[in-house]
Amino acid sequence: MNRRLRLNNMYCLALVFVLFLGASFYILYSSINDTHHSWIAYTQKEVERSEHLGNAIISFGYGGFIHDFKNAVIRRDFAYLQKVEPKIDEGLHSLELYLKLAPEHAQEVSNIRSVIREYRAKIPELKRLVSNSASVTAIDQVVKVDDTKAIESFRVILSSYRDKPMKIIEGAQAGYGVVVNRLLVILGVLLLIGVTLFSFIVSVNNKLISKLKDLELIFSCAPNAIFTANESGVITSANTATMKLFGFSENAINNINVDDLVPSTVKEKHRQMRNEFQTSDRAQPMSQRNRTFYGKKLNGDIFPANISIATHALGGEKHSIVIINDLSEEVQYKYEARTDPLTGLANRRTINDQLDQALARFKRQNTPLSVCLFDIDYFKAVNDKYGHLVGDEILQKVAEILTLHMRQTDFLGRWGGEEFVVILEDTHKQGAVKFAEKVRSEIKQRSQHADFPTAITVSVGIALCNESDNADSLFASADAAMYESKEKGRDRVSVNQG
Ligand code: GH3
Ligand code: MG
Ligand code: MG
Repeated sequence: MNRRLRLNNMYCLALVFVLFLGASFYILYSSINDTHHSWIAYTQKEVERSEHLGNAIISFGYGGFIHDFKNAVIRRDFAYLQKVEPKIDEGLHSLELYLKLAPEHAQEVSNIRSVIREYRAKIPELKRLVSNSASVTAIDQVVKVDDTKAIESFRVILSSYRDKPMKIIEGAQAGYGVVVNRLLVILGVLLLIGVTLFSFIVSVNNKLISKLKDLELIFSCAPNAIFTANESGVITSANTATMKLFGFSENAINNINVDDLVPSTVKEKHRQMRNEFQTSDRAQPMSQRNRTFYGKKLNGDIFPANISIATHALGGEKHSIVIINDLSEEVQYKYEARTDPLTGLANRRTINDQLDQALARFKRQNTPLSVCLFDIDYFKAVNDKYGHLVGDEILQKVAEILTLHMRQTDFLGRWGGEEFVVILEDTHKQGAVKFAEKVRSEIKQRSQHADFPTAITVSVGIALCNESDNADSLFASADAAMYESKEKGRDRVSVNQG
């Protein structure tokens, strides 16, 4: 699984966690809220019901209308009778209100009402008998009402409330149980998510640590110089190869700026380029990748290098990772592979490459091209007489004279043994002959003086290139011209027109 995928998984898990938390709190809150509101509504209704029922009982019962009715009968007093009707109205009104809140007691309320209406129906007769001063017994016989149904109905209603407190407590316990259950489920799921997240973080952390250790090892063991630098160019960390290459110790790391590690001639330009890059939106300084640059050691030595720079921006600040490959040895090997060690001139491989290029230009631009082959005369005898070291010295001196007389556009190399080649581009026959003659006579002249171990001469062959020539035919042509010079007595210049 790659790093981005793992991070996405972590974000998804965190999102699920947050969503679950939100949903859990919402469910908990709404179940507590529902319970709270249903209990408020229930309690309010119960209080109102009790109040209406109580009012009805007071209106009808002791101190209520029956009390006054009975007193009116027993005492035959109109004052009691006047209180009866208002109390009946009050009682009936309370019953009506009660019935709205307790429709399950419709039958009982109807029974009570019919008994009360019976009483009300008897009031005119009671009034008449009281005003006629009828006896209590006579009155009682006439106005007597059977209360049994009403009393029984009140009993039924009241007994139905006997179990109410228990029911309320049971209901509260059930509501509490639901909330606790939900809370336990939520806690369980939270725990599960927490454990999953924790193990996920531990595993990611372990992988990160292992990756970091790998990187640390790569960093410290890499043969290349690797270092990091901050936005100001100050080196923030460097591996052993860096310190070895530039020649600084670990303590000096944070005091060195990358601008100090380039040759003084390009230091200012380097600083400017670095500043421009830091303020640009570019992620990588592409112009510095895979090109040969020169680095400067703290002791001032300059060396060729290949530099790769990668950057990353963290918190808006750019950090650079620089990898430097010291090319000193590579450059040296390349130089040695293309140079003759005795004279420091180009060797045969380089001469061949150069001739191929010169031929390509000759064919493209149609400018004249000549090749001169110089061969020292009787060189074997010189070696035999003076020894190889003297022979070597002569070869070096001949190389010097040739170098001195050629133009910047001419190319000189040691073809092998005591033979030298000069490629003359954009040079006609006369120019080539003039050059060859000049060198021939100069070698002859100079070798007769004290700084030469012995007098020597050279034979020269010139090949003038024509359109059908290639490198081999051109050399063969120069060789043939040189042998012509040998045959004609040496110490001369011959030309092969091709
Ligand atoms: P010719 O005039 O016909 O060219 O005669 P020559 O003796 O110069 O030619 P030859 O080919 O017979 O001999 C070339 C000699 O060059 C043989 C060898 O000892 C000498 N020679 C070749 N390379 C070197 C070198 O690197 N150092 C020295 N000292 N001598 C070399
Ligand atoms: Mg030779
Ligand atoms: Mg020779």
